[in-house]
Amino acid sequence: MDLKALHTISYGLYVIASKDGDEINGQIANTVFQISNDPPTIAISINQQNLTCEFIKKSGLFAVSVLSQETPLSLIGQFGFKSGRDVDKFQGVNYQTTPKGLPYLTDDVLSFIEARVIQNVDAGTHNIFVGEITHAEVLKQGNPMTYAYYHQVKRGSTPPSAPTYIKESERRNGMDIYECTICGYRYDPAEGDRENNILPGTLFEELPDDWVCPVCGAGKDAFEKVG
Ligand code: FE
Repeated sequence: MDLKALHTISYGLYVIASKDGDEINGQIANTVFQISNDPPTIAISINQQNLTCEFIKKSGLFAVSVLSQETPLSLIGQFGFKSGRDVDKFQGVNYQTTPKGLPYLTDDVLSFIEARVIQNVDAGTHNIFVGEITHAEVLKQGNPMTYAYYHQVKRGSTPPSAPTYIKESERRNGMDIYECTICGYRYDPAEGDRENNILPGTLFEELPDDWVCPVCGAGKDAFEKVG
């Protein structure tokens, strides 16, 4: 069995949000897909450990914000590498609420979809929620962020709690790669860090002292040499 076959599957990148009374929370997910047309339904896959999963079970509602390619890594870090149990993930983020009171992001988002859960499948580490769409709007034109674009072009990382997580092996070239011990982002000198205007060919040691992880915001001292 060659599980690398799974790496050939395509995904997008989304913020899934829900609520519990007055409390709101959201998280990054790569698994959102349309199931049927009439009634229009979608399904999402959410890690059972996540606060968002708890909120969806309680409220029976979720909202999907479809991220565009312009979404900064820091936003993905905010929603993908922090827990709503520790921080208010929506603090400092522009958002509005759907008719049923769920938050959706308004910057770098192409559209949002609100749904009511009609089925909940326990799939081991994750729950699959099937939802009937109760509201949806297109906010702007653009290209949706795909998982491949996030990894290959934006050079983003994946938390171990994601269904698609794989332990990445070390990469080529003679320059040392450094990995963020907080979020797993890898600084590859051959690529630089375009979001922080670091040119390709810049060694980790040459990064300015105030450089921070583009995904989670950790300082240079949180990085370790790979290998
Ligand atoms: Fe990081």
